[in-house]
Amino acid sequence: MNTQIPKLLTIFLTLLLFPFAVHSYEIKVMPETVKPGDIFLLTIKGATNPVKISFQEKQLQYQSIEDGRLISLVPVDVNTGPGKYDIIVTQGKTQRSAGVEVIDHKFKTIKLTLPKGKVSLSPENQKRANGEAVMLNKTWTPNTSIAWDSRFTHPTNTEISSVFGVKRIMNEVKTSVHRGTDFRGKTGTPVMAINSGTVVLSEDLFYGGNTLIVDHGMGLYSIYMHLSKFDVQKKESVSKGDVIGLIGSSGRATGPHLHMSVKLNGISVNPESLFELDL
Ligand SMILES: [Zn+2]
Repeated sequence: MNTQIPKLLTIFLTLLLFPFAVHSYEIKVMPETVKPGDIFLLTIKGATNPVKISFQEKQLQYQSIEDGRLISLVPVDVNTGPGKYDIIVTQGKTQRSAGVEVIDHKFKTIKLTLPKGKVSLSPENQKRANGEAVMLNKTWTPNTSIAWDSRFTHPTNTEISSVFGVKRIMNEVKTSVHRGTDFRGKTGTPVMAINSGTVVLSEDLFYGGNTLIVDHGMGLYSIYMHLSKFDVQKKESVSKGDVIGLIGSSGRATGPHLHMSVKLNGISVNPESLFELDL
C-alpha cells in the first residue's frame, strides 16, 4: 500500500484548516431571541481588527473594548418577519455567522378619534413637519466611539403608559406605528439622560415639541419629546442620570407625558430592549 497517500492527505487537510486555526474567533448574540424592533448585542472574541459585520444587508459598526472583544449593537427593523436571521462576520478570507431568532409578535392596535385638524395638517404645518423630518434624518450620522457607560436606565421614575410598536388608527384612516415608549408624568417631572453622551439637538419641533437628542456613540441616539423645559443645550456633555429637562405637553401631545425613542443606525428600536441589554 502506498504510504504517501495518507501523508499527502494530512498535509492537504492541514493546509485547508490552517486559515481557520489562525483566524479562530467566536461570535455571541445576546439575547438570541428578539421581537421585531428590538436591539441586540453582538460580541466577537478572538478576532483581530478589522472585521466586516453585516445583518439584514447592512454593514454594522463595532468597537473594541478593553478586554479585546469587539462589540456591536444591532437593530432589528420593526417590519422584520418571524424567522432565523444570520449575522455574518468576515475577517480576511474567513467568514463566520451567528443566528438570531425573530419571533412572531403581534403589536396591539388601538383606534383613536381625533379632531380633524389634528389628523390632517395645514399646508404650512405639513411643510414645517417635512422640513424637520429631513433635518432629523441628517442627525443620525454615525459616531464611532462609545460614549455610554454600562447599562441604560429609565428616563423617569414613573411608569410606562404606552409601549413601542402599538399601531394607531386615527379616524379609521390614518395609521401610524408608535416608534417609542411613553412614560407618565405631570408637567415638571424630571427627565434624566438614559446614559452618557452629547446633546446634538435641543429644539422646538412640530411633532415633538421641545425635543432633546443625545448621541451615545456608535450610531445610537436617545430622543426625548414634549418637554416643558430644557436643562441642557446642544453640544453639552451629559452623564447617565443627569436631569436634562422636564416633562411637558409641547408639540403634538394629547397631555403631559414623555415620549422617548431610540435610533440605532437610523432605525427606530424598542427602548425597553435597550434597557435590558447587559452592557
Ligand atoms: Zn409616544
